Amino acid sequence: MFLENNLSSSKLGGCIEVVTGSMFSGKTEELIRRIRRAEIAKQNVGIYKPKIDKRYSENDVVSHDSKIVSAIPVQSAKDIIELAKDNEVVGIDEAQFFDDDLVDVCNYLANNGKRVIVAALDMDFAGKPFGPLPQLMSIAEYVTKVHAICMQCGNLANYSHRLSDAQKLVILGEKDVYEPLCRSCFTKAIDDKNKEPKLFNQ
Ligand code: ZN
Repeated sequence: MFLENNLSSSKLGGCIEVVTGSMFSGKTEELIRRIRRAEIAKQNVGIYKPKIDKRYSENDVVSHDSKIVSAIPVQSAKDIIELAKDNEVVGIDEAQFFDDDLVDVCNYLANNGKRVIVAALDMDFAGKPFGPLPQLMSIAEYVTKVHAICMQCGNLANYSHRLSDAQKLVILGEKDVYEPLCRSCFTKAIDDKNKEPKLFNQ
């Protein structure tokens, strides 16, 4: 578990924290936990997320155990700078869907004394680094990798295996579309998929 080394980091300078992992790894729960603790410390907090994520309601960050914290959907990462100007703690959920501008935005916010907490998928369905995550993990002071449980063998899982054959990068929705797998089960699943006879042209 991540222990905040200093809740009132705004008095001492900002920082960037990244909470990342596969689907069902508890990223949003961990973001909410940190935000709630900042609220208890009477800090001005804000949560932002990309407009693309409409799985649940428009304005809430809803974790899978349904603890609700309000979030503001934004069109682009740069919008956060103006919206977060009074925040001491800035949460950013589903950050993998933002473009690389998010890296500069997080640096700007942290350089201006804010504690920035980013929750995001680290890899896409193909096991490739997702969007701005590699850069965000580089510039962050703290990176926390959280894990799901492999649906095949019960080990720790760090891959989000897509159950369908669709190749689109962004498919929202969860349980019916993705399953968390460990490295060896993910590799096997991808191999098996490649061996399947193709009914349509490749
Ligand atoms: Zn496994």
